[in-house]
Amino acid sequence: MYLMAVRWLEDIRADDIGSVGGKGASLGEMTDAGLPVPPGFVVTADTYRSFIEDTGIDQELFAAVDVETEDSAALAEAASRAEELILGTEMPEHIREEIMTAYADLEGEEPFVAVRSSGTAEDLPEASFAGQQETYLNIQGEELLDRVQRAWASLFTQRAIYYREQQGFAHDAVDIAVVVQQMVDADKSGVLFTSHPSTGAPQTIIEAAWGLGEAVVSGSVSPDNYHVDRESREIESVTVAEKKIEMVRDEETGETVTRSIEGDRRDTQVLTEAEIHELVEMGERVEDHYETPQDVEWAIMNGTVYMLQSRPITTIDDTSSDDAEVEGAGGEDILSGLGASPGITSGAVRIIRKLDELDKVSEGDIIVTPMTTPDMVPAMKRASGIITEEGGMTSHAAIVSRELGVPAVVGTGGATEILRDGQIITIDGERGAVREGRDTPKESEREPIEEARPKAPVKPMTATEVKVNISIPEAAERAAATGADGVGLLRMEHMIMGTNKTPKRYIDDHGAKAYRDEIVDGIRTVAEEFYPRPVRVRTLDAPTDEFRQLEGGNDEPSEHNPMLGYRGIRRSLNEPEIFEHELAAIKHLYELGYDNVEIMFPLVNDAEDVRRARDRLESVGIDTTKREWGVMIETPASVMTIEEMAAEGIDFASFGTNDLTQYTLAVDRNNERVSDRFDELHPGVLKLIGRTIEICREHDVDTSICGQAGSKPEMVEFLVEEGISSISANIDAVRDVQHEVKRTEQRLLLDSVR
Ligand code: PEP
Ligand code: MG
Repeated sequence: MYLMAVRWLEDIRADDIGSVGGKGASLGEMTDAGLPVPPGFVVTADTYRSFIEDTGIDQELFAAVDVETEDSAALAEAASRAEELILGTEMPEHIREEIMTAYADLEGEEPFVAVRSSGTAEDLPEASFAGQQETYLNIQGEELLDRVQRAWASLFTQRAIYYREQQGFAHDAVDIAVVVQQMVDADKSGVLFTSHPSTGAPQTIIEAAWGLGEAVVSGSVSPDNYHVDRESREIESVTVAEKKIEMVRDEETGETVTRSIEGDRRDTQVLTEAEIHELVEMGERVEDHYETPQDVEWAIMNGTVYMLQSRPITTIDDTSSDDAEVEGAGGEDILSGLGASPGITSGAVRIIRKLDELDKVSEGDIIVTPMTTPDMVPAMKRASGIITEEGGMTSHAAIVSRELGVPAVVGTGGATEILRDGQIITIDGERGAVREGRDTPKESEREPIEEARPKAPVKPMTATEVKVNISIPEAAERAAATGADGVGLLRMEHMIMGTNKTPKRYIDDHGAKAYRDEIVDGIRTVAEEFYPRPVRVRTLDAPTDEFRQLEGGNDEPSEHNPMLGYRGIRRSLNEPEIFEHELAAIKHLYELGYDNVEIMFPLVNDAEDVRRARDRLESVGIDTTKREWGVMIETPASVMTIEEMAAEGIDFASFGTNDLTQYTLAVDRNNERVSDRFDELHPGVLKLIGRTIEICREHDVDTSICGQAGSKPEMVEFLVEEGISSISANIDAVRDVQHEVKRTEQRLLLDSVR
């Protein structure tokens, strides 16, 4: 059979996904639309297929990965056998030839290329699909063949095998294509938003810095910022930042390196007026093509503008948009909002304003609420429909409803006022309409609803990272949908308390492996959702009075003041046999490929605590020089010993202001009698924080906050001024914090140039 091993981007269309994968198809579509995509080709999915079939390794390969995935040794063995088979088998001559011929047709002699895997199973979440993350930059010559083979092998990492097994996808039904694209050796690059990312106003916002775009996207440089009115074409504002570094390709090694920018270029405006206008126009063409505002990564090389990537902006708050208006098909609409989850359903209204009203919801009822929360998920599963007053398409209600396949209308404004408890209504989750009365087929006759996935979140344009706090893994999806840069605090204790047993009781009843699996599952839900964004997992920190309420709680010590008692790292270090399982769970996640997991220790007081905790990590086999780990700053003692802790090799320090405030002011955080004295902005607390940030900056230790105060605008402003590396906020505060960070950063920039 004649096989066309490669296809050029210009010959690819959007519906070629089966042959060239999602990434390949979208690059092809953009090339076809005349957008300046760097030239390239795709090694098709059929080529991968023909490689494993023609060389006869297919049967052995699929047999090798057919293992019990909960058995980590077997899983590791499977992945390594698959890799061996794919990398150890020579690529047939005709495939090699075709790839190298296409490569030779690229511009220049032995040009540098980027090699990326492109999954064909689009119903698998991007981050989870094997190999989607595999990207090799600056590849040259015959090395390309090796990278293509590696991209194929990435279909069988431990994580990919595990995920497919969990989701019930057959290993032999998933293919992989590989995109090979000319590298753009950018002189300048950045991102642009074709509309204002939160208001949707017709304004192009461009961020630009010297060198490769990674510096802007990763937030390691403060970029210039340009605002252009799309109607008048006027450049409304230009903010020139001090650009301290740039990322460039090292001439000798071909690798991407960061170097410091010296002299005038630091403060020189990156974009010329002509380039600004060219970028605005390109943005408009992308937006026209996709018919929705876009977040575009661009680069300029030798005066030519390239478009590297584009995706829809998902943070525009469109709850008031006219699109939601519908005409009644039958009865009159009594309410309208956004159709967040498709399907038509009828039922009785249950108005929920407080969590303890959830019992009211019976099978088939329609929940009407200001906004859903993760605690409402069990009731949402019983409901036949959901209406919220607030929220947009990526709100908790919208995402969870879509996942559960329950029709939902969100952002209706006054639903809890307009509707009455017990009233029978019909909702249309496609068009966002609510009518009086029942006029739908019974639930059993409803058409199955296609699963929708939340869209990729847009990156907030701030140098300070904005992350999110999570306590219950069920909230992961909602948290990820905020566009947060990662998880700044994932509390482990809730995963345990969810079982209603103390750790010791759980292990006695079910064994250590089950305990460890409980932790692995909880963390994995979040790590998967956020991958490759970092997820900072905190080891157990529950006071004994909380454990006492659980099964096995009678064996817990009874303490006069649990807040000052047996909790956090002091307990973990005293009970290594329990602590060890938490660390082993994290180690197992690393083995599964979740290299985005970070480890954080609560309530440390000094370098001695840090040393002992680090020894525990090493003793379970976690290499602390390779993994990100750090501590919470929750006691004045930890502030006063931060230099010594930094010397122990911590990568980060995160302010737990709930405790730091309590221990600095001697105010019990749980005692409402003194709640008026619980002030996280107290000068004493702020001084401790400021000192820590300053010293950490000197020692190259990242700083963050994960206490409640990180969601308060005044605190955010203070922290950004002090130079904190990241802020972790509550899910619902992420957006406001992103804006507050942006505002503060811009003001600092302006102050520095005025
Ligand atoms: C804190 O103390 O601020 C913190 C985030 O930890 P917790 O609230 O779990 O004690
Ligand atoms: Mg704390």
